[in-house]
Amino acid sequence: MMASFYRLRNSIKNYAWGSRTALNALFGVPNPDEQPQAEIWMGAHPAGCSEIEIGAVSISLQDAIAQSPETVLGERTAEKVGQLPFLVKILAAETALSLQVHPDKRQAEEGYARQGNRAGDDYNDANHKPELVYAITPFMAMNGFRPYPEIVNHFLRLNSPELMPALTEFRTNLNADGFKRFFVCLMQLAPQAKSNVLKQLKESLEAGGFVHLQEFLIRLQQDYPGDIGILAPLFLHCITLEPGEAMFLQGGTLHAYVHGTAVEVMACSDNVLRAGLTPKKINVPELVNCTVFSETHEHTLKLVADTAGTDRHYPVPVEDFRFSVMGNCQQKRIEVDSAQILLVLEGFTTLRDTRGEEMRLRAGQSVFIPALTEAYFLTQTGQSCLVQC
Ligand SMILES: [Zn+2]
Repeated sequence: MMASFYRLRNSIKNYAWGSRTALNALFGVPNPDEQPQAEIWMGAHPAGCSEIEIGAVSISLQDAIAQSPETVLGERTAEKVGQLPFLVKILAAETALSLQVHPDKRQAEEGYARQGNRAGDDYNDANHKPELVYAITPFMAMNGFRPYPEIVNHFLRLNSPELMPALTEFRTNLNADGFKRFFVCLMQLAPQAKSNVLKQLKESLEAGGFVHLQEFLIRLQQDYPGDIGILAPLFLHCITLEPGEAMFLQGGTLHAYVHGTAVEVMACSDNVLRAGLTPKKINVPELVNCTVFSETHEHTLKLVADTAGTDRHYPVPVEDFRFSVMGNCQQKRIEVDSAQILLVLEGFTTLRDTRGEEMRLRAGQSVFIPALTEAYFLTQTGQSCLVQC
């Protein structure tokens, strides 16, 4: 790879929860068959690797990196990680994604080894998956456990006989361990008990209960009838990120994205353990092993960006990636000290390197910049986001 800029050709994941219109409306992505278009992956993960063009030949980014890791990734990353450490996605959720948790590094290594170091039922690789989500449109999500007294109040109001013994026990052990036991009981209700609890929630909603959670509860009820994950708003924070707002989720955080379009940046991993809101495999014991049952506080959920002119940098406590969003600029110099992916979110962007090589991109297009590029100049009307490590 001797050029400074490589336009990315990215694969689209047609998961059932995807929007049929969002990617077309925002970025002009064609959708002639009106398929659900859930995710666009930008990166080198084997489950959805981007392609680049070298001369007239199309080659996977993974192969291009493997041919000369030091020049593409930079010495530091080539030595430490040996691959592109991050993965970037655009998510377009029409219905909710599964109620899920991502493992930390040790859990992923152990889980993957238990599967004989092969992608399998629970683990797809040996990496952790901390993630950042940045809203492009208003983005509804559930993230992190509510304070325990709030969870207790919600379930007292639901007043379900099936849950009362477990709830009473939780109230006398109002701590992470007590909550963990309550959560396991909830997720593993027998079919009849589950359907009774969901019926009680429905009646409670119809009677005007849970007013502040209605938007989430009604949506989940419609999307996943009969699924115990519908109860998640009673124990998880419900939040709507406005465009430009972002959250960071460390491994072990229970969450579900509900509706809207966002950029998601994560360590290069596809490890997801699920508890509900999905027709995919559910593994409650493994999910519980990987979940941190501490309560979290709503005001800590959103990331506070460092702002400099029209640039915003969103600090994250991991080394796998850095994430910034850049606004209008003229010949703004960008230093390159690792491989980068730049994704245009709005308008037009031109990149020009110090030798005069130039690339022009519009909203929805993305470019891979190898570490050897060293520096380039950015001119844009609109917005783009930059991921590097
Ligand atoms: Zn996730």
